[in-house]
Amino acid sequence: MCLGCQESHPKKELIRIVRSPEGEYSVDTTGKKAGRGAYICPKQECFEAARKSRGLERSFKNAIDPAVYEALAQQLQALEVTAKTEE
Ligand SMILES: [Zn+2]
Repeated sequence: MCLGCQESHPKKELIRIVRSPEGEYSVDTTGKKAGRGAYICPKQECFEAARKSRGLERSFKNAIDPAVYEALAQQLQALEVTAKTEE
């Protein structure tokens, strides 16, 4: 289920955000990174919705620094741009 729009989508249409055992957050494009994961649509609007509703905090049961959100937003944006170029 997407953290932003709260809708169910096939996993391949979602991206995984992972919290590593060291407590670092990143966008997991391979789906194989170790750590706790949360899923979200690769869309800026879903990310913003998740940021507003504190979906990541709820999923990871941890406070998340705004800088982490910024870094994830940038990684997500890069993915979105790549996806558009490939169309
Ligand atoms: Zn979504």
